[in-house]
Amino acid sequence: MCGIVAYLGKKTAQPILIEGLKRLEYRGYDSAGLAMLSGGIIKIKKTKGRINDLEKILDKPIESETIGIGHTRWATHGEPNSVNAHPHLDYTGKIVVVHNGIIENYSTLKTWLQSEGAKFVSDTDTEVISNLIGYFYATGNGAAGQNKFEWAVQRALKEIHGTYGLAILCSDFPDTLIGAKNGSPLILGVGDSEYLLASDAAAIVEHTTQAIYPANNEVVVITAAGFHTKTLDNVTVTETIKKIEFSLEQIELGSFPHHMLKEIFEQPKSLSTCMGGRIDIQNNRIKLGGIASYLRELTRTRRIIFTACGTAFHAGLVGEFLFEHLARIPTETEYASEFRYRNPILEDGTVVIAISQSGETADTLAAVEQAKERGATVLGIVNVVGSSIARTTDAGIYLHAGPEIGVASTKAFTAQVAVLSMLAIELGRRRHISSFHATECMKELAKIPDKISRILQQSDHIKQIAAANIDRNNWLFLGRGFNYPVALEGALKLKEISYIHAEGLPAAEMKHGPIALIVDGMPAVFIATEGPQYDKIMGNIAEVKARGGKIIVVATEGDNNIKKYADHLITVPDAPEIFQPMLTVIPLQLMAYHAAVLRGHDVDKPRNLAKSVTVE
Ligand code: GLU
Repeated sequence: MCGIVAYLGKKTAQPILIEGLKRLEYRGYDSAGLAMLSGGIIKIKKTKGRINDLEKILDKPIESETIGIGHTRWATHGEPNSVNAHPHLDYTGKIVVVHNGIIENYSTLKTWLQSEGAKFVSDTDTEVISNLIGYFYATGNGAAGQNKFEWAVQRALKEIHGTYGLAILCSDFPDTLIGAKNGSPLILGVGDSEYLLASDAAAIVEHTTQAIYPANNEVVVITAAGFHTKTLDNVTVTETIKKIEFSLEQIELGSFPHHMLKEIFEQPKSLSTCMGGRIDIQNNRIKLGGIASYLRELTRTRRIIFTACGTAFHAGLVGEFLFEHLARIPTETEYASEFRYRNPILEDGTVVIAISQSGETADTLAAVEQAKERGATVLGIVNVVGSSIARTTDAGIYLHAGPEIGVASTKAFTAQVAVLSMLAIELGRRRHISSFHATECMKELAKIPDKISRILQQSDHIKQIAAANIDRNNWLFLGRGFNYPVALEGALKLKEISYIHAEGLPAAEMKHGPIALIVDGMPAVFIATEGPQYDKIMGNIAEVKARGGKIIVVATEGDNNIKKYADHLITVPDAPEIFQPMLTVIPLQLMAYHAAVLRGHDVDKPRNLAKSVTVE
């Protein structure tokens, strides 16, 4: 959450920063600001609201201003207003900072700095960073042979506990930009005589595809002459320049009105890319290069724990069912936010698998660290290449789903389930199921992308269903077996972008309480595809219908029997139950999308939310 971007080069910085912030706006959008450094003077403009609001208060760009930092905020400490908006200037007026993350000991540091005479104007934790750097810069002696700005940053960061991605300027160093990170993402784009620091590659790719990814507790110092990276103890780090693997086209809307809709429609392609080259039907193998050297350990593992948050947690639940069904490995799925604090038992032979689209989810990253500390092998299933979780885990599998910009995760979910399916088939082939069964599974999995294309054709029909129920403020999503996690995901999608209250449940649980909620006309979305529990869920449908609920059914194509129960019917192509989640989730994604648009919400910038939850 929060996007930071900084530029140092020969071009006019302001338009580059604004463009970069717009590309990062999905990370936070409650307030925004810029600071330009020109001739030893720091000029700050910031405001509550979005980047468009910031643009309204900006002066015309000044050509000679070629160094600046920018921020789009998702507030953690202090309400979203123009004082709390970043950048934050220190009390001496020399240091200015943009920050992504949370400073945990800010209150202690603030009290101490105040006792030393530092003045604070905002309620943010971030102001502690600028004031602390300012304090050491003003009162410290620096170190021989080292620029004092760099020294003060290193010195201050040693006192700070928490997460940060930072871009920092100092008025005494008119051609220096400093970046630093711990726990929050930070990339340095290395262009031709220009550098861009940013929270993610989306703000960089337009200018360069060459980048370095500083590690935690590293400080990168950039001038027109080049850059160097050091630890907080001033030890030089050698960085390798890597290629950013995504194009501008992938992060632009094209003909779609919203990123979410674009990403829903991209799923046949993103899944084909995700599975491409990995399913080798001829040789009856699934090739997952990233974890190749861990496959033996995984095959012999006694227990697997998936740890994840939000949508990725729902993918983990599907994975749990797949692993137990195909590979007979005892598996459980845990919210990373709980796992990290609850003293989990990780006995010998337990493998922990973290799932995160961004690879920066703070809770999941902390769970990974916790599991590693306790000696477990930890693998990652991550979309963003080079992200913190990808680097912290022992090994992992990338989704290769392409950048996901929509705040409500869609194509990452199906790709996560596809990766989990592939892994379950491969482990199943080695442990439990026959070769023939494994090949059959591979063939069925390879058919999923085309089947999704057929479901997408019903988008307008699903819109009509959403429209017919748009005035209802409470919805139920019900599924059984492999479709129970899909019910949870359908409810989450509707909540996060439509702000409609929804509950997802295993259908049979309804009669243990939630059935009391059913009132005349209340929409209940049933995933009632053909499978072992078909007859059971028909019973659940009848129970809701008898109480006046409006029955919306996701059923298998050609199921004529179900028509008489359904007020609204959506169909999906037939598939084995174990792979159905990748199909049955599509109508629910579309339902949430259309409901949000019909209610007039900004789908890509939902209230109170932001992409990539880099704070706890
Ligand atoms: N903690 C900082 C603030 O509230 C940054 C928040 C974030 O990175 O999301 O301003």
